[in-house]
Amino acid sequence: MGLDDDAREYHRSDPPGKIEISTTKPTNTQRDLSLAYSPGVAAPCLDIDEDEERAFEYTAKGNLVGVVSNGSAVLGLGDIGAQASKPVMEGKGVLFKRFADIDVFDIELDQEDPEDIIRTVAAMEPTFGGINLEDIKAPECFEIEETLREKMDIPVFHDDQHGTAIISGAGLINAAEIVDKDLSDLDIVFSGAGASAIATAKFYVELGADASNITMCDSTGIITEERAAAGEVNEYKAQFASEGSGGDLADAMEGADVFVGLSVGGIVSQEMVQSMASDPVIFAMANPDPEITYEDAKNARDDTVIMGTGRSDYPNQVNNVLGFPFLFRGALDVRATDINEEMKRAAAEALAELARQDVPDAVVKAYGDQPLKFGPEYVIPKPLDPRVLFEVAPAVAQAAMTSGVARFDIDIEEYAERLEA
Ligand code: NAP
Ligand code: MG
Repeated sequence: MGLDDDAREYHRSDPPGKIEISTTKPTNTQRDLSLAYSPGVAAPCLDIDEDEERAFEYTAKGNLVGVVSNGSAVLGLGDIGAQASKPVMEGKGVLFKRFADIDVFDIELDQEDPEDIIRTVAAMEPTFGGINLEDIKAPECFEIEETLREKMDIPVFHDDQHGTAIISGAGLINAAEIVDKDLSDLDIVFSGAGASAIATAKFYVELGADASNITMCDSTGIITEERAAAGEVNEYKAQFASEGSGGDLADAMEGADVFVGLSVGGIVSQEMVQSMASDPVIFAMANPDPEITYEDAKNARDDTVIMGTGRSDYPNQVNNVLGFPFLFRGALDVRATDINEEMKRAAAEALAELARQDVPDAVVKAYGDQPLKFGPEYVIPKPLDPRVLFEVAPAVAQAAMTSGVARFDIDIEEYAERLEA
C-alpha cells in the first residue's frame, strides 16, 4: 500500500480521526459528579465571575489552544474549504500535544469574509489560552491576525506566517555566522510575496537585516516602487518595493547573498545560483518541491552553499514544528496576552544557539546516524531533539516577562528544569 492508502487507513481506523477528549478529574461517584457539574461547579463559576483570571486556575483554558482555519490555503492543496481542512487541523492538534503537551480544539470556520472570521474568533476568547490561525490565505490572513491581536488578550499567532520566519530566521543567524557575513550587509532575495514571505522578510529585518537590501519577487517579477505606485501590488507587498527598474527573479538573484524561496518548486536554475555572491545561503522552502533541489544547488558551485528546504530527507529542514509548540508552551505558562516580536526573536535565537551545541547520541540515532554538527549541513536543530522544548519555551517565557506581556511571573530556571524532567 502506498502512503495515500496508508493515510486513509490511519485516519479511518476506529475511532475515526486523530483526537478525542478525556477527563482529568475523578468521575466515579455521585459526589464526584456533583463536584464536576451542578451543584458544585457553581463555586468556581462565581470565583471567576469575581476575577476572570481565575479561569486559568479552575478550567483547562490555560493549556488549550484553538487551531482555527477556514481552509482557504491548506498545505499545498489550496482553497479546499473548511470541512476538507479538518484532518490538517486535527493533525496540528496532534503536533501540539506530542511536542508540548498542549491541548487543542480544532475549529473549522465556514467563513470567507475577514470581518466574519474576526468576529467569530474574538468571541471565542473565554475558551482558549491562545489562538493558532492556520492555513488562511493571503492577503486576508494579515488583516485577520493584526486585528485579532489587537482585540484579544490572549496570543494570536498565524503559524503559516511566523513559523517559517522564526525557523528560517534561526538558520539565517547561523548561516551568516558560518559564512562570516553581517546580517545587516546581506543582500536578500525573496521568491514569493505571500503569507510566509512577507512575514519572513519582516522578521529578518527584526533580526538585523537591512530592509533596503531585500528584493522581493512575486509571480510577475521584482516588486518595484513603480508597480506599487501603479497599484499593481497589495499594501503588504508594497512595504518591500525596491527602487530601480525591476526585472525577473534571475535579475534579482545576481550578486545576492541569500535566496529565500516561499513560492513554487523548480523555478531556480543552477545558473541563477552561480550568479549569486560568494558562499550563498539558499533556503528553498516551497513544498513539496523546493525552488531548486538540494543536489542542484550544492553542485552549482565550488564554494560553501548553505542549503535549507522544507523537506525532512535533506539537511536543514525548515519545519514549523520546531516553533509553534514551544512558542505556545512558553506563552501559556506565563499566561501571556500576546506572542510579540520579542518572543519570536527569543525563539529564533534559542534555536540558533541550540544548533551550535553538541547533539545527544539519541538524536543522532533518530536521524539515521548522519553526522549532526554545527556547520553548513546543520544550522537548524532537529524536530525530534528533546532539548528544543526546554531551550525554546523558557526563552519565550522569559521574553514575555521582560517585554511586559506576561500575566504570571515564573522562575525561569525552575521552569526549565520542570520541562526537562
Ligand atoms: P502564498 O501566500 O500563496 O504565496 C505564494 C507566493 O508565491 C505568492 O506571492 C505568489 O505570487 C508567489 N509565486 C507563485 N508563483 C511564482 C513564481 N513562478 N515565481 C515567483 N513567485 C511565485 O503561499 P505561502 O503560504 O506563503 O507559501 C508559499 C510556499 O512556501 C508554499 O510552497 C509553501 O508550501 C511553502 N512554505 C514552506 C514552509 C516551510 O518549509 N516551513 C512554510 C510556509 C510555506 P503572487 O503574489 O504574484 O500570486
Ligand atoms: Mg499551515
